[in-house]
Amino acid sequence: MNAEPAAFIAAYLHEIGIYTPLLSATDPVKKNQQPRMQTAAPAVAALSVVATKTPPTQTPRPSPKNIQSPCVDQGISLRGLQEQVASCTACALSKSRKQTVFGHGNPQPDLLFIGDAPDADDDREGQPFAGKSGVLLNRMIEAMGLHREQVYTMNTLKCRPPWNRDPSSEEIAACRVYFDAQLQALQPNFICLLGRVAAWQVLGTHDGLTVLREGTYDYQGIPVYVTYHPTYLLRNPARKQQAWQDLQRLMQLHIKPQAAHISSE
Ligand code: SF4
Repeated sequence: MNAEPAAFIAAYLHEIGIYTPLLSATDPVKKNQQPRMQTAAPAVAALSVVATKTPPTQTPRPSPKNIQSPCVDQGISLRGLQEQVASCTACALSKSRKQTVFGHGNPQPDLLFIGDAPDADDDREGQPFAGKSGVLLNRMIEAMGLHREQVYTMNTLKCRPPWNRDPSSEEIAACRVYFDAQLQALQPNFICLLGRVAAWQVLGTHDGLTVLREGTYDYQGIPVYVTYHPTYLLRNPARKQQAWQDLQRLMQLHIKPQAAHISSE
């Protein structure tokens, strides 16, 4: 690892209160799981993380009336889907957006990060996690020994709700067909949901994030984890260490580490 990424990772770990020399992880990858991803330089601190299975309380998915869901061709390519989304006017958010925010990164990812909806920076740049939250997410990804381009980032909703309000059930329902088609095209090996709104939408629950973080879920056969949204972490930096524990649990179960560790300088 060259000095710049090491400093970047060290900065994130320093922010979350980890000052001790870092240990490489043992290899607890489950039997029969063959992760495709080899980490460049995992920086796994020796924190105690317990993997638990806590099924969320299931609630019905939103099914509002008068929603004209877009039609998406079965097996559509990621590029074709992005083009279709770019001209979508299926819900009212099409009137207030600057542009659609589809997704970014490796089109064949092992790891997929999903947030809830684009913010003002995303709306302006046309990419998810484009602003300060994206800088923090980059640090989190780098601290995992990965690069942003190795993973894929997206939101459940493709257009920014005005004033960054939570999306309505009508907007979520209208955009759901794109979300499902995008996951079908990406075929990730595992998913990390960022924040309560994304978790509620994908898992169909209204459990609190404190509970949801402790579980491992299944979305169409794909293992799913939940942690805090980077925007929340920027407002609540004391939670960064818990977010790091969540990412470590994900790494320990799915990412095969190499015997590397970063400098503690
Ligand atoms: Fe279309 Fe989704 Fe944007 Fe609504 S939020 S206009 S359904 S792309």
